[in-house]
Amino acid sequence: MNGGVNGLRSLSKTKQSARIIIVGAGSAGIAAATRLLSEGFRNVLLLEGESRVGGRVHTIPFADNVVDLGAQWCHGEQGNVVYETVKDLNLLETTEAHYETFKCVRSNKEVLTEDLADSLKNIAFASIPERQTELADYKGSLGDYISAKYWRELEKLPPVDKHIAQEFLENFHKFEASVEAADHLFEVSGQGHLEYWLCEGELLLNWRDKGYKSFLRLLMKSKPCQPDDLGILKGRVLCNKSITEINWRDGQQVMVRCWDGEILTADHVICTVSMGVLKERHQTMFVPALPEAKPRLLQGWIIGEHARHMETLTEQEVLEGLQWLFRKFLPIAVPEPVRLLRTQWHANPNFRGSYSFRTTQADEMRTGAWDLEAPLCEVDGKPRLQFAGEATHKHFYSTVHGAVETGWREAARLSDYYRARTARI
Ligand SMILES: Cc1cc2nc3c(=O)[nH]c(=O)nc-3n(C[C@H](O)[C@H](O)[C@H](O)COP(=O)(O)OP(=O)(O)OC[C@H]3O[C@@H](n4cnc5c(N)ncnc54)[C@H](O)[C@@H]3O)c2cc1C
Repeated sequence: MNGGVNGLRSLSKTKQSARIIIVGAGSAGIAAATRLLSEGFRNVLLLEGESRVGGRVHTIPFADNVVDLGAQWCHGEQGNVVYETVKDLNLLETTEAHYETFKCVRSNKEVLTEDLADSLKNIAFASIPERQTELADYKGSLGDYISAKYWRELEKLPPVDKHIAQEFLENFHKFEASVEAADHLFEVSGQGHLEYWLCEGELLLNWRDKGYKSFLRLLMKSKPCQPDDLGILKGRVLCNKSITEINWRDGQQVMVRCWDGEILTADHVICTVSMGVLKERHQTMFVPALPEAKPRLLQGWIIGEHARHMETLTEQEVLEGLQWLFRKFLPIAVPEPVRLLRTQWHANPNFRGSYSFRTTQADEMRTGAWDLEAPLCEVDGKPRLQFAGEATHKHFYSTVHGAVETGWREAARLSDYYRARTARI
């Protein structure tokens, strides 16, 4: 009897009355919410654990400018939804050239000659696989692949000091591991590396002087002169509202429990928390537990053990460590900084890391973003608990444009569901 009444109640839901809760007001959450509103949904609420919106997009004032503590660049142009949205607004500037002209300095302050540095750089950069067919059946890690190719190519050059070549390779590994947000390249899947799609065009487009936040402000249609204006999301975001449990056992509505004890109910929940948060909390956060495939994928949140250690130190200790490095490597004295800022993405329970990558372990378990993005549906196909966020994107994981697309993907899933249902009724 009850099921019948609930069933009727559920059938009477429309885009106007369906209650949607989005957990997390980062790029994916904001993209999903703004898209749902533009599709005619009215009852959309974002619950955010932090005291601000934006998530891993975090632009703050610094000196007479701003600094991005999270995402900084728009990576590429073609097929990049962020670039497409802002390309005519003069918000971006190119910075790629600055990063190509670095010098190589050893810890005894010796600077490598340009010739030697250039040949090592060429070999190293050429050893990164880019859609190479040779990697299609490759079972090893990205680290194995790059090292083997680097040494093979080096053999073809006139003899080079082996110590310097080894140091260069180690350094290159560290650099690439930081790009992947991995502890080291030997845990990054070689094959999986090719799942990531580079958008053609400039890869390091910087946000002129307002930071990455300007993009989220555009999505929300924030008022230009009000830095904290939430635009069309005004009144739809609850900050400092950390979610402790998402219970979708009922079959009719999802119960969302907040840290302060408040319980909210919804017809649909889109969960956008990071892979780091899922990995740490999935066992208590979801009732019933998530299907096996989802927790198994949760590996790509690591940013290197030294970074994690750094986050436990005081700012003064971090500063002293940096100064020690400068003194060791550089022939010039580096002046004292006026102010030091360091990020603590891993220590923060709302993030637990920087961004995801594809691991060799995920390869072995034959799992990937396709498992993570799959919604949990009722028997009639109604999406009940959905997942968005950068880690759920098959090809643009680890980026803002990827996160935004996942928010739009889940908004479209709901919109399609209601459109098809209305047509049936
Ligand atoms: C240092 C750094 C540099 C980066 N550089 C770039 C770059 O240059 N270019 C680029 O494209 N990408 C970059 N990225 C990656 C990019 O920032 C992310 O891919 C993207 O912002 C992720 O968006 P998201 O919505 O998936 O997740 P998030 O931004 O993490 O949003 C999820 C939200 O959920 C909230 N949350 C978590 N747990 C709970 C809970 N229990 N209850 C309620 N709310 C919760 C979080 O507070 C957060 O606001 C960088 C990331 C970092 C950390």
